[in-house]
Amino acid sequence: MKFCDYILKIKKLPVVLLATFFVLLYVFSLPVNAEREIVIVIDPGHGGDNMGAMHNDFIEKYMNLTVANAMREELEKYEGIVVYLTHEDAETNLTLKQRAEFAASKNADFMFCLHFNMSEGGILYGAEVWVSAFDIFYAKGHSFGQIMMQALEEMGLFNRGIKTRINNRDEDYYGIIRESRALDIDTILIEYAHLDHINDQEFYTLGDFQLEEFGRVTATAVAQFFRLRSDILNIDFSDFPVPEVEAPTEIVRPDLTPPDVSHLELVSLDIEKREAVFKLIAEDYDSFILYYAICLDGGRNFGTLQPFPRTETEVLITLDLPAERNLRVVAQVFNAYDRITPSNIISIAALPPDKVVEDILEELEEIIEISLAELTQELTERQEQIYKRLETYQIILITIAILMILVIVIIISRITLLLKVRRHARIEDKSPES
Ligand SMILES: [Zn+2]
Repeated sequence: MKFCDYILKIKKLPVVLLATFFVLLYVFSLPVNAEREIVIVIDPGHGGDNMGAMHNDFIEKYMNLTVANAMREELEKYEGIVVYLTHEDAETNLTLKQRAEFAASKNADFMFCLHFNMSEGGILYGAEVWVSAFDIFYAKGHSFGQIMMQALEEMGLFNRGIKTRINNRDEDYYGIIRESRALDIDTILIEYAHLDHINDQEFYTLGDFQLEEFGRVTATAVAQFFRLRSDILNIDFSDFPVPEVEAPTEIVRPDLTPPDVSHLELVSLDIEKREAVFKLIAEDYDSFILYYAICLDGGRNFGTLQPFPRTETEVLITLDLPAERNLRVVAQVFNAYDRITPSNIISIAALPPDKVVEDILEELEEIIEISLAELTQELTERQEQIYKRLETYQIILITIAILMILVIVIIISRITLLLKVRRHARIEDKSPES
């Protein structure tokens, strides 16, 4: 029996060895094939009583949630990624700390906070990304921010920049970024568009599909940043050129000063066309110039903000000038942090109305003159007619009066005659015997 057992063991040896080999092969191959999954947390801004920005029928907390859901759906089409939302419904109101703690509890590689914006006076428009002002958090945030902003610019949105903001304790101003960094979580905040500016309204007012597009675009930026691939979408971002940003050694401070240069020059003035070309020279040494606006009344009423060319220091502006008004033309330029510097004022004396307006006025005057003459003529004719009629009536009346006088004279003479005849008759009656 012992001998038989021994023989049996020897026979099984190759099987055992082979099995051991495959087990070892599997164990050694494990770290190569099974990389850790990328964990993404999406934070739809606001929730519960905290509505966020509100304009007309648009409420930010609902919009952010729609974008977030579309973003998750798109991201889940990529391999090697897990996606969480900080909250699934618009009625949950998490504190910023709770959101950061949620991301930390999931060991998130990155948290993306989704928002829509509004501005004082409703004058600003465009998209922006807020990042931490510190070390590697700034570097990663700025790197992703570049991919994100390029995508939003391609959608047609105005790029308001990738920025930092600091509170008076030299910490990140935005709570969600501050709390996340404290828990070692990379976080950025995206402001997609302004709810209260017409320039941005075309990007979300047509329907939820537009908000979903924001979600898809953001998901694609994330996939590019993490160099993901998707069999479903047949996309491979393995070689995507993610922008390299060096970790700063000091706090990246926001620009707290207004633009340094804001100078207006009159290049040409066409009095006949009432058209002027101005050159606006503007520079900000700490950040960059975002917009400019023009005013014709010395600084009281500025027109809509216009984008200032990002890589230039001057822009040519052609203006149609109003007539018969003394003008005081002034520009103002906004930097990336919406700080403003007004330009010098250029005075232009009242311009005559242009040829077209003059012609129209002349024609109008002619028409008025013609109709006045016609009216006068007609009135004169009517007057003459009335006078003629009056003359005829006068003649008739006089004739009637003469006739009436004649009749009266005849009647009187007849009566007189009758009385005379009667008196004669009486006299003859008294003397029959004679
Ligand atoms: Zn918000």
